Amino acid sequence: FAPWEDPNEKPLIQFKNVTKRFGDFVAIDNLTQDIFAKEFFALLGPSGCGKTTMMRMLAGFEAPTQGQIFIAGQDMAKIPPNKRAVNMMFQSYALFPHLSVWENIAFGLKREGKDKDAITARVEEMLRLTRLSKFAKRKPHQISGGQRQRVALARSLAKAPKLLLLDEPLGALDKKLRQDTQFELMDIQEKTGTTFVIVTHDQEEAMTVASRVAVMDEGQIIQVATPAQIYEAPNSVYVADFIGDVNIISGRAKPNGEKVATQWAEGQPDIIGTTATKFDAGQEIHFAIRPEKVAISTEEPQDAANKVQGKVLDIAYLGNISTYHVELPTGHVIKAQTANTRRLSRRQITWEDPVWISWTDTAGVLLER
Ligand code: ATP
Repeated sequence: FAPWEDPNEKPLIQFKNVTKRFGDFVAIDNLTQDIFAKEFFALLGPSGCGKTTMMRMLAGFEAPTQGQIFIAGQDMAKIPPNKRAVNMMFQSYALFPHLSVWENIAFGLKREGKDKDAITARVEEMLRLTRLSKFAKRKPHQISGGQRQRVALARSLAKAPKLLLLDEPLGALDKKLRQDTQFELMDIQEKTGTTFVIVTHDQEEAMTVASRVAVMDEGQIIQVATPAQIYEAPNSVYVADFIGDVNIISGRAKPNGEKVATQWAEGQPDIIGTTATKFDAGQEIHFAIRPEKVAISTEEPQDAANKVQGKVLDIAYLGNISTYHVELPTGHVIKAQTANTRRLSRRQITWEDPVWISWTDTAGVLLER
């Protein structure tokens, strides 16, 4: 059982019908969501959708206009930020430039008035955890960006918060370092058992680190699920489109038992799909399929549930994969992706080539909205 599937598990964080208004503007719109202890929970969505506002309400920097937030069963309404078992790590890291790495990590512990031995032991532990022991004496300007990021993390974790909020924690790192650091972050989260809530613009990052991802739009959560569920079974065109690459074909539903035929273009065979969702005949329906689920071939495939002829518009070679843009007679352009596992396949498909694209009846999802 994952904690969110276990009816006996109590959530660490509860948003209950939370609305946040800034003047007339609704930043968070009647949002209800549980987050469980030890989760690595990612908030993902376009700029301005309310991610930071959710974090700031958890930290206590903003109060909900309506609704309640509970942490470990306690209503946070009257609890100031410094009385919450919550820490927030900012993108800028906000390290003290004149203090050493050691002193930066110790800062919050000293302010709490902990005794010297306890502070030393805790700082040493945090240095080990973040692999910074060698750099303890250096100042922030004497270490790399990735190391500074780890100092900020060590400092945020020193007081052993129940909940750590990470706002674009890796935003300042270059791509390669960012990817390595994602794994470190997961490792540290697992070792400490702290609940992490992360805000990121980067959908790949959210998919890599998170136990669950919440995809947001205009102050609402549209879908919350594991990365794999979000990718394989998006609940809407919005989510399908936000995460990864996708082809969307809209049409009218013709239900037939567990299958639905989607009528999408004059003179084209219906798209046959399998779905648990019930559709009414004639209802608007959106068929979503990932490019890697679309096969491309020069010869007509024999037993594909769905196949359409088209012409190759262009090809992007990306080393491990190639993406083909295939134009259909209807004007639709469908992306098909192939894995380049074999060196130089027998016959390369090229521009203007007439091709078949095909997929099975379970390769895509059928969506109501
Ligand atoms: P980004 O990814 O760009 O950081 P976000 O999803 O974190 O965006 P928020 O910072 O939560 O978005 O802001 C949500 C909306 O609320 C935005 O439209 C923003 O302009 C508005 N907003 C946030 N804080 C205030 C404020 N103090 N006063 C007025 N409007 C605000």
